[in-house]
Amino acid sequence: MASNLHFLIIPVMCPGHLIPMIEMAKLIAQQSVTVSIVVTPRNAQRYGSVLDRAIASGLPIRLLKLQFPASSESGLPEECESMDDLPSLSLFMNFLNASAKLQQPLEQVLGELKPKPSCIIADKSLTWTADVAKKNEIPWVIFDGTSCFTQLAADKLWLSKIHEKVAESEPFILPGLPDSIVMTKSQLPGLFNIGNSPKAKEMKIVKEHIRELEVGAYGILINSFEELETRYIDEYKKQKQGKAWCIGPLSQSNKNDLDKAQRGSNASLNEHGCMKWLDSQHPGSVIYACLGSLTHQSTPQFIELALGLEDSGFPFILVVKGGGGAEKIEKWLAEDGFEERVKGRGILVHGWAPQVLILSHPAVGAFLTHCGWNSTIEGFCAGVPMITWPQFAEQFFNERLAVQVVGTGVAVGAKTVVHVGLEDTFGIQVKREDVCKVAKIIMDKGREGEERRRKAKYFKEMAEKAIEEGGSSQLNLKLFIEDIMLHTNKGLAG
Ligand code: UDP
Repeated sequence: MASNLHFLIIPVMCPGHLIPMIEMAKLIAQQSVTVSIVVTPRNAQRYGSVLDRAIASGLPIRLLKLQFPASSESGLPEECESMDDLPSLSLFMNFLNASAKLQQPLEQVLGELKPKPSCIIADKSLTWTADVAKKNEIPWVIFDGTSCFTQLAADKLWLSKIHEKVAESEPFILPGLPDSIVMTKSQLPGLFNIGNSPKAKEMKIVKEHIRELEVGAYGILINSFEELETRYIDEYKKQKQGKAWCIGPLSQSNKNDLDKAQRGSNASLNEHGCMKWLDSQHPGSVIYACLGSLTHQSTPQFIELALGLEDSGFPFILVVKGGGGAEKIEKWLAEDGFEERVKGRGILVHGWAPQVLILSHPAVGAFLTHCGWNSTIEGFCAGVPMITWPQFAEQFFNERLAVQVVGTGVAVGAKTVVHVGLEDTFGIQVKREDVCKVAKIIMDKGREGEERRRKAKYFKEMAEKAIEEGGSSQLNLKLFIEDIMLHTNKGLAG
């Protein structure tokens, strides 16, 4: 379609951002646009299998490897190049500041890139990329890995400031949305709610800066699809004068099991014992529980989750995130004998789970998720009802979308954002009885359960169609590329 175009992609080095941006790179390259993607050496290794296969298949993707700034200078642990390697998310700012040091090396190589990039698609948290784009007179397109529901809700709050007039736990209706959505201030993302967290206060300043900058972006690419949240997308597009393109679900770009399995790790298919176990389970019988790549649950809270799943009586897969903080949880697991006790009925994945592969297995009947946007949309794609357990950031918005708008989710009953770095001070928010109760609701074979499953199946079909030839997201991607082509040609003519 567009062989003279060249898009430069700059992701945040974090699974929830890098994974969808790599998937986006593949989809763009399938349209004959050359794509360069910035990665650091350890991330190039981690995501290398997927990228190498894409390149070997003939897709015009290039890796722009830049050295990650030395950890010691940035106050980060040694060899930490990905946000999920942080022992605590309270080091978030250190990580973002270290990432900003990529600006200079990037600018050094930018001039040598041929052809000159026609646009920069950057994660919006990397504010310095706006500067790079401006200096080089390249359109700055932002990628925001969340839904239009969240975009719109955040915009309306930002303008109305209604959250400043309510008490922490006082329910209020989110202003200006197509549906009546009730939330409390304590459930809002960091831009609107910092609780008593000094870290959240620090992060709020950055988020305000991002908000100021994003107004000047050329456009925005969104990992969503029109059939999922139509009214929200229509409204948001109006706000952006049409320069908002929904091109997801990006995870749908993985057509084979190996790509699904290796989205966030280099593990081979054989290494995933849980897949064999799933083969032995009845269709729709298993609850898959994973709280994403960044959530650090306190040990007492994790215990409630594990025991609640055990009490429910359903077969389950529970992911125990590796990295900082995991030692205490692993210690409890060993002392309690949990894994031994649930053997045969429950499987623990220690570290990284092949989430999209698991979700695509017919034995999975429900997904207990923290409502990170990638996980939420992956749940919609899998066509399974979801137990929603938001933790931080915009996750309560995603919960409302799944529960109230799409209607495939049931809330576990989390009441407030757990501010990063303060997980241990929050105590137990959700008890084992709550987990057990909601598991029974979601697996219920009655009318309500069937209705949720019917809806989930419908959105799965819509998600599959969206990125196929002629689908809404593929069309949007083509429109985006045409827009950039037009812009580039105008520049050349002028
Ligand atoms: N993920 C995975 N295995 C894991 C943990 C996470 O494959 O054990 C993937 C998940 O499929 C999703 C991404 O990592 O694509 C996490 O992004 P999300 O927005 O859901 O949450 P975050 O980790 O950013 O909080």
